Amino acid sequence: MNSTRLGHDAVSDALGTAGLRPTPQRLAVYDQLAAMDDHPTAAEVFQAVRPRLPRISLATVYKALEALAAVGAVDRLNPAAAGGPARYDARGDHHYHFRCLRTGAIHDLPTRYDPALVERLDPALADDLRRRGFQVTGYRLELFGYQPSEPEGERRE
Ligand SMILES: [Zn+2]
Repeated sequence: MNSTRLGHDAVSDALGTAGLRPTPQRLAVYDQLAAMDDHPTAAEVFQAVRPRLPRISLATVYKALEALAAVGAVDRLNPAAAGGPARYDARGDHHYHFRCLRTGAIHDLPTRYDPALVERLDPALADDLRRRGFQVTGYRLELFGYQPSEPEGERRE
């Protein structure tokens, strides 16, 4: 899965093109997010990166994630409910998500992205969009529901 993460050069270029400096903190925040598979919140990235950068603040982590999202280096996943914390995803390829409505946790679905899904779902819709001159370049698919409240194997007392 690491092949879908960007290298420091690519992250630096993306920031630089937008007029943002690729500071060591921004790159460290990117590295930390890229090492986490659970689509963490800014607070979770902050907790995880602190051992490496003891003087970094939550505000700096949040601003770094927003800067990385603004230049397309990471994806910002909107909260399920208004006021909830955003989550972040360093995986750069198209993929699908599953969201737990109880915990807010987001996981990748272990299946291949289908670029022709809209066409298959409703060929008339795809034709209609083409006639209107709308060029579909991608789509998001998120399943939502409830995962077990405790991990398997930890339910017995
Ligand atoms: Zn993801």
